[in-house]
Amino acid sequence: MSGVSSAIIAPLLEWYDQGHRNLPWRAHPTPYRVWVSEIMLQQTRVEAVLGYFDRWMQALPNIPSLAAADEAVYMKLWEGLGYYSRVRNLHRAAVVLCEKYSGALPADYKELLSLPGVGEYTAGAIASIAFGLSVPAVDGNVLRVAARLDNADTPITDAAYKKQTRERFAALMPADRPGDFNQALMELGATVCLPNGTPQCSACPVQHLCLGYHHGNAAMLPIRAAKKPRRIENRTVLLARWGTLVGISRRPETGLLAGLWELPALEGHPSPDETRAALAARGWQVEKFLSLRPAKHIFTHVEWRMNGYYIELAAPPEGLIFVSPTSLRTEYALPSAFRPFLSVIEEEA
Ligand code: SF4
Repeated sequence: MSGVSSAIIAPLLEWYDQGHRNLPWRAHPTPYRVWVSEIMLQQTRVEAVLGYFDRWMQALPNIPSLAAADEAVYMKLWEGLGYYSRVRNLHRAAVVLCEKYSGALPADYKELLSLPGVGEYTAGAIASIAFGLSVPAVDGNVLRVAARLDNADTPITDAAYKKQTRERFAALMPADRPGDFNQALMELGATVCLPNGTPQCSACPVQHLCLGYHHGNAAMLPIRAAKKPRRIENRTVLLARWGTLVGISRRPETGLLAGLWELPALEGHPSPDETRAALAARGWQVEKFLSLRPAKHIFTHVEWRMNGYYIELAAPPEGLIFVSPTSLRTEYALPSAFRPFLSVIEEEA
């Protein structure tokens, strides 16, 4: 019996060497590629990241090109990936790297950790995979694997459990292959020790060392902490047209979807008559007014329940800029929450 201990190293590395997913950032694990891929992969599935990663690397192939890029360029490359503070931090960090480190990532865990948007996991992944430093990279996947290996009765969201697990991995890192060991753990979590009660224990290289498996608890682990319910926000989204153009505005610089473009919206779900009255009060000269199919969008802590209206205007009201459907699609980063309301104009683009 073992749990998390140095006994898992050899079988995990052997299993990893026998074959693993062929991911583009693994083929040429330069520090920049590892960094960008790890930031993209936070909260996002590998399949969703693949296309984004390739487009990003073609447009911004190195740190200086990212540091020099216009906001519109990197925001557009990120459009649809969500959690937009990640891309803003990537850019901020690239600027720091150009100012302080000659445009390269430092081969030092603590210095990596000091960069905007780089936490312990990301710093550990870059340090170990790109620089061969003996540092663990413990994210939610690895914590899940650890909780099952240990048959732990603590939720993996518990800060003390996270810290303790990270320290235990730090103590057992194999000095000769730290990057491969971290990637083997990640690979195990992503392909075998799957979340939501579906671990594939019969295919697992460390089954013989897994206390959760031996106690028959694997599928029930990790223990879940009680979740806070999401806040529901009702909104009424307006697809405002002036001629062929579409009205958009910029969101505030802080908070949800900070600084991104959006379709204008009213709070709540006013009736069609109430909506027309609210728009008239704002000086909107509405010529045509049609209901759109409602939609919802789920963020981490908030759920938007959206009604929608298609509106044709006689004149552009204040507070909106009007852009063509083509430039809306190609130049402005519009969060995917608004996509359901754009289907009406997609053929025009
Ligand atoms: Fe995960 Fe099952 Fe392997 Fe244990 S035996 S590490 S639960 S896949």
